[in-house]
Amino acid sequence: NTEVTEKWLQEYVDSWVQFFKKQTVDGEVATYIPILAEANADALGISIIGRNGTIIKSGITEEKFTIQSISKVLTFIVACMERGLAYVLSRVDVEPTGEAFNSIMHLEMKRPNKPFNPLVNSGAITVSSMLEGRTSDQKLEALIVLLEKMIGYRPEVNVRAYESERDTSMKNRAIGYYLLEGDYLESDLGITLETYFKQSAIEITVDDLARIGLVLSNDGFDPNTNEEIIPRAISRLAKALMLTCGMYDASGKFAAYVGVPAKSGVSGGILAVVPPRVRDEEFPFLEGCGIGVYGPALDNQGNSIGGIKLLRHIANQWDLSLF
Ligand code: GLN
Repeated sequence: NTEVTEKWLQEYVDSWVQFFKKQTVDGEVATYIPILAEANADALGISIIGRNGTIIKSGITEEKFTIQSISKVLTFIVACMERGLAYVLSRVDVEPTGEAFNSIMHLEMKRPNKPFNPLVNSGAITVSSMLEGRTSDQKLEALIVLLEKMIGYRPEVNVRAYESERDTSMKNRAIGYYLLEGDYLESDLGITLETYFKQSAIEITVDDLARIGLVLSNDGFDPNTNEEIIPRAISRLAKALMLTCGMYDASGKFAAYVGVPAKSGVSGGILAVVPPRVRDEEFPFLEGCGIGVYGPALDNQGNSIGGIKLLRHIANQWDLSLF
């Protein structure tokens, strides 16, 4: 029965979180955005929400953190909804780079003739420039509304985090100038970067990530009301991008060892999407679920070190890989 199942799933997840919490020591919190350096390096938390309503959460689950690069999936979705899929894809490609998320290399080489994908900074900044609206707040409104539909409340921008990145992020300014020079941007550079820094500083929790993941798992439809929140084709493309480019230059390993679409951020969050596979009473999550993870200690690629280990373990134990 469901109660018994939930109880043992909970016990397993609790023990795994305790175990992998100790393994965060090999990682370090991001410091290039000063405010991120304040995070607690051995924090680890997870929330898993199933299509059938099962919720398992463990570890640090109440804490808010900034969404950072996870926002890139969402602004891509919003831009496609506003401007049409074909138009967005004419401006940003869908190929993994194999380079760091903030690499400038391909922009300089002008190959291909548009940014590689919307989940690296060059592509994401281009996408932010495409959002409708004149000011950064207008540009972000549709994103906030989309988030509200998925998580049930209106999320806010952490102003300190926004200012902290705005005042220090020279690399992103450099990327911005390359994009400007290449004629990729559709709005003023200053406003585009302001939009990008603000979207990165939106605060969420692991539960929120799990809810977003569940909507994506359900092909863009609200799991409770069946209302369309994201058109199916856009949701599918977003997941393909997450699988191929979502974990920076560790996306191949993540696909191989975990095997589900995911997107990470430098504050230590990971959004993972488990698409439905089979109906299974014992493993409700095989019917589809969203997973949110938080663990601010990062590996060399900038992914949550405890988060990846935890996801890998869960995916193996519960056979979640798509493959
Ligand atoms: N705002 C961050 C940046 O552009 C997001 C990066 C990330 O999470 N990888 O540097």
